[in-house]
Amino acid sequence: MNDTTSTTHKILCNTCKVQPEPIPDSDPQEWGCPVCGVHDTTENILGEANQHIVEVTARHIQNKGREVAETSSFIQFSGKPVPYGVYRFVTDIEMAA
Ligand SMILES: [Zn+2]
Repeated sequence: MNDTTSTTHKILCNTCKVQPEPIPDSDPQEWGCPVCGVHDTTENILGEANQHIVEVTARHIQNKGREVAETSSFIQFSGKPVPYGVYRFVTDIEMAA
């Protein structure tokens, strides 16, 4: 096992894969993508990024479960695939399937 769950992930604009920059004089603090201009508050951006982590992690676990089910006649895998969410902001989390 590696330690990907304990490392800090960078927040990235999902479209441009660059880190958002703080928008001056915004209250509450907003962050915007310097390339495409998408922006939101710190709270909303972190919320989306966390959702993305949850989705990526859930898909990873499900893929592992499916692998086990395929090699076993005792385990029936009945879960629906984890749907792909639409995110403006994601993290750089990556998990090998
Ligand atoms: Zn962007």
